[in-house]
Amino acid sequence: MPLPHAWLDDVGSSPYADQLSSGFHLLRFANPLEREYRAYILEHSFDLKRIGLNVGILLWLAFAGLDFAMLPAPEVWWVLGVRLVVLIALLICAGLIPPREHAPLLQPLSLLCISIIGIGAALVVGIAHHGDPNYPYEGLLLVSMAAYFLVGLRLSEALACAWLVLLVYVGVELWVDLPMPRLVNNVLFLLFGNLIGAVGCYLLEFKSREHFLVSQLMRVLAEHDSLTGLHNRRSFNRTFERLGRQAQRDSQSIALLLCDIDHFKAYNDRYGHQAGDSALQRVGSLLNDAGRRPLDMAVRLGGEEFAVLLYGIDETQAWQRGEALRTTLEQLKIPHAGSDTAGVLTMSVGVACIQPAQGGELAQLYEHADRALYEAKAFGRNQVVM
Ligand code: GH3
Ligand code: MG
Ligand code: MG
Repeated sequence: MPLPHAWLDDVGSSPYADQLSSGFHLLRFANPLEREYRAYILEHSFDLKRIGLNVGILLWLAFAGLDFAMLPAPEVWWVLGVRLVVLIALLICAGLIPPREHAPLLQPLSLLCISIIGIGAALVVGIAHHGDPNYPYEGLLLVSMAAYFLVGLRLSEALACAWLVLLVYVGVELWVDLPMPRLVNNVLFLLFGNLIGAVGCYLLEFKSREHFLVSQLMRVLAEHDSLTGLHNRRSFNRTFERLGRQAQRDSQSIALLLCDIDHFKAYNDRYGHQAGDSALQRVGSLLNDAGRRPLDMAVRLGGEEFAVLLYGIDETQAWQRGEALRTTLEQLKIPHAGSDTAGVLTMSVGVACIQPAQGGELAQLYEHADRALYEAKAFGRNQVVM
């Protein structure tokens, strides 16, 4: 069953695109993508799980009312006893449902809830069958369906829960001596019902995983430049604000290096647009190496203009980083016969550095770096101005 994503051929390598290409029919991604998917699902199934628990409690109460009306003594008291214990456990879990920031507790908690409901339902059916073999056992299938579709469990978790319920059910029925033909009939019905649930749950999880990969890939594509793979201007604008706030909180400085290739129009005119593109890619990978720390960022602002945002770095270091970039490009010795600055491809760099906690304005950072770049061009290009 190949995934119908022919457009992936046009997309550069990324964990999401690679996973989409290689497939995931066993419902498992390569790590660390699997961890990322589970965290994403946890975040997005928070409300679903809360709704699921409330629906479960309501149905449990409704069935308790039915038992009270229909079952004979003494089984009714045993059944209501089991229902009460399960209800108390569910209410405790509902109280324990953690706030969003402790979301990892949510998954084991929801697995616990649905298992408690399943085991409780199996006990109820078994006890009821002790007095009335016609008591409906199909409610157990409702529990399994909730595990497959309502609680936001992965298929493996839902299957584990469904098997547990089935085993407890068989154990209880053997204990109360339900006639064997009847037990076989009931178990077969539950197995077939579970088969339908498991297939549905597989398809649902498959689609959920595919949706995760495609949506994350779209986000990456929307935030990156397709030629160089660097962040694009939209991504830069968003990160710029966020990083500014963080620098203010942490009393750190941030530096901006604006880089512009010298005489690039002449380069294109002389060597052609294709050669221009590959030169941009080489500059892109050079800048990418310069912005590798987690809070740093290398950006293609547009055309042959790039930026490197560096976090927690002082003025001298920022200037040195700019100078290192400039010399590295010069030493690549990409021939540029059309440049009257040097015989090779070079760039000019404008550097600015601020400390937001000491009153440095974020908007000024860009302005200052832009003015410095203008001066670097005016002073003759292939240089760094702070
Ligand atoms: P300066 O030294 O003053 O920066 O001169 P310049 O020629 O580099 O600057 P100018 O802004 O006049 O020209 C930029 C050129 O960059 C024009 C355009 O042909 C080229 N360019 C912009 N985007 C791309 C691209 O994606 N691929 C290629 N190959 N060229 C591009
Ligand atoms: Mg230029
Ligand atoms: Mg330019």
